[in-house]
This record gives sequence, structure tokens and C-alpha cells, in this order.
Amino acid sequence: MNEVGRRALVPYLWLNLTLVIVAALWLTLHLAVDAGGAVLPGYLIGLCAIAITAVPIGRAGMLPSLNPAARRFWHGLRVTALLCAAGWGVAVAGIVMDPPPPGIAPRLSPLTTVPIVCGALLFLTVVLLLPLGTRSPAERLRYALDSTTAVLAGSVFVWHFVIEPLVPGRGPVSEFALLAIAVASLLAGCVLTRLLLGGDIPVDRPAMYLLCGTGLLSAVSGFATIVWGEQGKLGAAVIAVPAAALALTGAAIRQAYAPEAVPADRAGTRIPFVVFPYVAVAAVNGLLLLVANAGAADRHVRTVVIAAVATSALVVLRQLTVLSDNTRLVTHLRAQEMRLQREATHDALTGLANRALFNSRLHSADGATVLLIDLDDFKTVNDTLGHAVGDRLLKAVASALRQATGDRGLPARLGGDEFAVLVPSDGQADQVAQRLLEALHRPLLAGGHWLLARVSIGAATARPGDQAEDVLRNADIAMYAAKARGKARLVHYASGMAEPVLDQMQTGGELRRALDAGELTLYYQPIADLASGRTIGVEALVRWQHPVRGLVCPAEFIAAAERTGLIVPLGRWALGEACRQAVAWTEELGDAAPYKVSVNVSAHQLQDPSFPAEVSAALAASGLAADRLVLEITESAALRGGAIMATLHELHTLGIHLALDDFGTGESSLSLLFAFPVGILKLDRSFVTGIEIDTAAGVPDEARLAVARAVQQMADALGLVTVAEGIENPSQAARLRELGYTTGQGYLLSRPLSPADLAASLTGAV
Ligand code: C2E
Ligand code: MG
Ligand code: MG
Repeated sequence: MNEVGRRALVPYLWLNLTLVIVAALWLTLHLAVDAGGAVLPGYLIGLCAIAITAVPIGRAGMLPSLNPAARRFWHGLRVTALLCAAGWGVAVAGIVMDPPPPGIAPRLSPLTTVPIVCGALLFLTVVLLLPLGTRSPAERLRYALDSTTAVLAGSVFVWHFVIEPLVPGRGPVSEFALLAIAVASLLAGCVLTRLLLGGDIPVDRPAMYLLCGTGLLSAVSGFATIVWGEQGKLGAAVIAVPAAALALTGAAIRQAYAPEAVPADRAGTRIPFVVFPYVAVAAVNGLLLLVANAGAADRHVRTVVIAAVATSALVVLRQLTVLSDNTRLVTHLRAQEMRLQREATHDALTGLANRALFNSRLHSADGATVLLIDLDDFKTVNDTLGHAVGDRLLKAVASALRQATGDRGLPARLGGDEFAVLVPSDGQADQVAQRLLEALHRPLLAGGHWLLARVSIGAATARPGDQAEDVLRNADIAMYAAKARGKARLVHYASGMAEPVLDQMQTGGELRRALDAGELTLYYQPIADLASGRTIGVEALVRWQHPVRGLVCPAEFIAAAERTGLIVPLGRWALGEACRQAVAWTEELGDAAPYKVSVNVSAHQLQDPSFPAEVSAALAASGLAADRLVLEITESAALRGGAIMATLHELHTLGIHLALDDFGTGESSLSLLFAFPVGILKLDRSFVTGIEIDTAAGVPDEARLAVARAVQQMADALGLVTVAEGIENPSQAARLRELGYTTGQGYLLSRPLSPADLAASLTGAV
């Protein structure tokens, strides 16, 4: 309702107020001047007042700001007003048809009182039906008990102070009047109780107080009819009815002007009323004492006793509900506490102990052994199959770990793909580790994929005086050693084991600085035609020009770079630099320049989906033709899963050549040769060493020879080019030529050279 609509309601208030004043004037005149005259005008005023009030109440029920419950409430009130108007209309009609004798108030027929009492009961119902807000069943029950206590206590007071004194010695008292008092008091009491105990209500609070006033006015008018006889009846009918109507109109207008949102219940408003039921019991018991001491009639005392017992019983019931609530609350809190404790000490994903619990147990354990377990190549699973599958794999490993541990120790997940077991004795630690390694021989089902999870395990036992941190660090060093020794194994910590690991960590740190300081350079080893010795390409091999150590070979830092991830920026730099150098040679040497340049690529680089774009950028920046670039990839990298395979195909589409490096040393899956867009196979040096006929023993190594032969035959069959690596003497070269190898690389042909040295050797300057 907008401002205009609201203002349109105000005249009804003035009208009702005017009717109250007119009724008061009329009654004064009637009693003082015209006693015994016609009463019709007085009753007509009441009828007008009730009929008028139905309009603002109806409008209040249509306010768009109201919620459905409040709307139902106001609609109910409108029906109440209409019922009362109908009852009062019948009374007026009765007066017209059968005017009462002068000085006597008209007797009201049941046709008048029944609709009015019905209206009052409806009023009561809509008040009781007002929603209680979000409450638990126990709270609802408590609310019902509190309301009953309040109404019962209120009723016994009304009965003692109002109704009971009226009955004796005043002749026959109208039952209607008593009923009216009882119902109206009940009504006022209910509205008040609802307001005080009900907390959040959807109806405007001041409006509710005005409605409470309507009930009180009705009760008072019932009282007046009894106390003041005929004059009282007339007064009640003529004044109380317009006054009650005025209160109703006031309530409706109040609702129209109420702020849009009903403010949420403030805890503060309800707290004083927590004592409400106890006050009621105390008051009724006080009344009991008063009645008993005053020597009232037995019947009277009995009634108050019953009321006192009933209110006490209600309060006891209420306390019982509070007690059961409290018990439930305590149970709930305890469960909550246990849950929090579990969350604080356990890993959410796997349910194993977490690092905090593990550390605290380790601190209090004496001479225990720690197994530190790291999943090998877990990152690859996460990167290629997604995190959901990665999580499933961690869960599957956790359950294998739990089974392998049994009751021998405490399994834990320390974070990421790192697990641990705290075992009280060393012998049992070995058992746990072996059981786990055996269990992981079988593939695990994770998110629909059968995956072979492999773990590297480091074991360390606390020595006297060792802190928890020492044991963990030792286990960590042993675990790194396990990884370095080829993964999927158990390694026990031994003193002196730390140095290589620490070396590697230190190297990683230094390498970062070296990259930034430009201490890395590329050497180039020619790849030549075995028959003519002509250089057809070069392989770029990184060198570290260390300020103290001199020229450092990749064997000493590539592993550290792989572990620290530095291999990615290193590889990016090598790629760019090699492309640039190849173009520079062409400009400098023309046709004498090596046509192809090979660059080694790590699996880490291939895992990055933007790698092909990086390669294109390097080609574009240098101006090198794509078919002059060869990327060397190891078999194990190519085997790392679908995402890498997609990258390789993308690189192939760019026109770049792909070579399988160190062929024959890795998993050598033949199916790989079909799936993988490879053009070149590089026979690993280990198959070249010893194939020459004139070895010291004079017997060629048959097994290596067989592999070298098989690789060449397979390459022929598949239309692939071969490069034999590590040719150190002419006999090896001769043997390889016999086997069909046309291209080779090795110290015999040339060692890796600096760019300047290579240029000099190509132009025959050396
Ligand atoms: P690789 O790719 O197999 O390179 C060939 C290695 O064999 C080179 O070692 C080379 O110097 C050596 N070699 C060549 N001919 C002979 C020979 O006749 N006898 C012997 N004994 N060795 C020979 P280098 O330069 O020490 O490189 C070692 C490995 O480091 C490379 O093996 C490659 O896997 C890796 N690497 C080198 N540079 C890079 C790079 O830029 N990126 C990546 N990811 N890896 C690189
Ligand atoms: Mg290579
Ligand atoms: Mg190689």
C-alpha cells in the first residue's frame, strides 16, 4: 500500500473516534435528561461503528508487505468484525420491532450473542494460529504449556476478583455476561501472552497491543453489565462497542503504517519472560494463601487449590521438556566435540591420522620407527586423469596402507601424496613396508581406471636423544634415496646418506641462480653420416659454466633440475638458444652449417599443454624452419599418458621431427612406435659399447649385437631413421654400418663442442 492508500484509511479512525464521542454525549444526555427514552439511537451508533471498522481491517489484510500468515490473521479479524456487526444488527432490528420498556436495556437474544461469541472465538483462533517462527517441536510444546499456564493463572485471578464476587447477593446474573467476561478476558490474555512469549510475530506489535485493548474493553463492558444493572448494560452496549471498534480501526491503521519488514525477534525482548511461568505459579500460590487465610468457602478454596496444582503441574511439565532438551543438547555437544576432535586429528579425504596427530604420537613414542611413503609419479596421474581420479587413487593407497599396517602401527597421510606409518618396533616396520609394496604389485581401481601405484619408502628409527623432527628428516632422506635408486622400494636410513640428497637440494638452489646469471651454455655434438663422416645435424647439450667448479656436465644437475621443476625454464631456454644458434650458423657458414638441430625435452615440459605453442614461438622468434628442429624424448616420458601423447601429435603436426632418445633402455613398448608420431630412433650407447668384433676378449657381445640388429630391422620395417649413440671407435662404426646404421654420434666423430669450436671444425679451420 502506498502513502495515498494509507492516508485513505485515516478518515475511518476519525469517524470511529467521532462515534465514540457521539455515543458518550448521547449516553450522558439519555441518563441525565431523557432516562426512560428510546434507546435505539445508542444501539445504532454501535452498529455503525462496527460496520465501519470492517473496512480498514479488510484493507490491512490486503497489504502487499504482509506475509501470508499475517494476511490470514487480518482476514480472520474482518470476519470477526462482520459477525459482530451481524449480531448487533439483529439487536437493533429487535429494538425496532419490539421496543423495550422505558428505562430497561433491551434483552439480547441468542441471535445477537451467538454471532458475537463466534466472532470472539474466531478472534481467539486467529491469534493462536499466528505462526511461531522456526521452532523445534519441544519449543512449540513449551510455548503451549507457557500459554496455558498464563491463561490459567489469569483466569483464576479474573474468577476470584471479578466473577466470584459478582455472583452471590446480586440476584440472577446473566450467564451471557459471565460468558462475555470469560471469553473477552481469555482473548485479552491470549493476545498478551502471544505477544510476550511468542517471539517473532508477523503482525505489527503495537497493533497487537490495540487488539489486546479490544479484548479488555469487552471484558470491562461485561463487568459493567453486572455491577451497574440496567444502566451498566446500557453503558456497556452504547460506549464499549464503539470504543472496541475504535481500537480495531486503530490496530488496522497501525499495521498499514508499520515498517515493511517485521524486525527479527531480538533475544533481549524474550529473556524477561523466561520467568513468566514461575511468576504465574507464585501468583496463584500467593492467591491460595490469601484465600485460605481469609477463611473463604470450601468451594472457593478448592477451586484455587486446583488452579495452583494445575499451574504447578504445567510448570513441572515444562521443566521436563527443558531437561530432555538439555540432555539432547549435551549429547549433541559431545558428538560435535568428538567430530571436531576427529577433524583436527584426521585427514578428511582418507580418514587416516593427519600430520598433527602423527607428530604428537611420534613425540611421545620412544625408539619407534617411521616409514615415510611417497607415491611415485602421482603428479602425472593428477595431470593426465584429473584430480577426482587422483583423489580416488590416494584413497585406494590409504586403504592398502591401512591393511598393510593392521595393528602394527599408526598409518597417516602427511599431505599431498605423502603417507607415513609410525611403528613401535623396527622389525615390524619392515613387515609393514614389504606388505605394502606387495599389495601395490596389483593395480588399484581408481575412478574407473586400473592404476599401478608405486611407492618409495624411507625408514628411520629414533636413536637415543633423537627428536621427532630428526627421525622424520632421516626418513625423508631415506625416501629420497629410494627414489634415486629407481623408486618402488624400501630404503633404511644410514648415516652419510644425507650428503647426496643435500647436495642435490643445494644444486637445485644454485641452479636457479645460475639460470638467472646466464651461467648455462649449450655445447653441440655433431650427428654424422657414418659412411662419409659429413655432419648432418647437431645435438644441443647443456653445460654449466660454474664460477668455482668449472664446466659441469648435465649428469650432475639434470636430476636436481627435474626434481625441483627447474628443468622447465632450463628446457625453455635451451630450446630458444639452440634455434637461435642454428640460424646464426646458417647465416655465418651457409651450406656448411648443420641442417638439423636436436634439443632434449623433459617429460615435465611435455606435461604443459602450452608446450607446442612455446615451440612455435621459439621457431618464430629465431626464424628456424620447423623441419630443421628435432625434439628428443625419452621412452618413459612418451609413456606417461594421454595428455603427453596429444602434445606429441600436436608437435608432429607443426612439422617438427620427434626422436626417441636412449632407445632400448626404458620400457621399450613396441606399440609405442605405432601410436607415437616418431621419425627417429636413437640406439642407446649401452648397445653400442661392446658390439665391435675385436674386443679384448675377442668375442662380440651377442646380446647387445642382437638388440642393435633388431632395432635397425624394426626401423627399416617401420620406415624410421636410426642414430647410433656413443660410437667411440672405428670398429664400432664399422659394425654398425654392417648392421645397416647410416647415421651416428659419438666421441669418435666429435665430442660435444662450443658453438665457435663447432663452426671452426665445420669449416675445416681446425
Ligand atoms: P643424451 O640426450 O643421451 O645425450 C647424449 C649424451 O651422451 C651426452 O652426454 C653426450 O656427451 C654423451 N656422449 C656422446 N657421445 C659419447 C661417446 O662416444 N661416449 C660417451 N661415453 N658419451 C658420449 P651429456 O652431454 O653429459 O648429457 C647427458 C644427458 O643429459 C643427455 O643424454 C640428456 O638426456 C641430458 N641433457 C643434456 N642437455 C639437456 C637439455 O638441454 N635438456 C634436457 N632435458 N636434458 C638434457
Ligand atoms: Mg639426447
Ligand atoms: Mg641419448
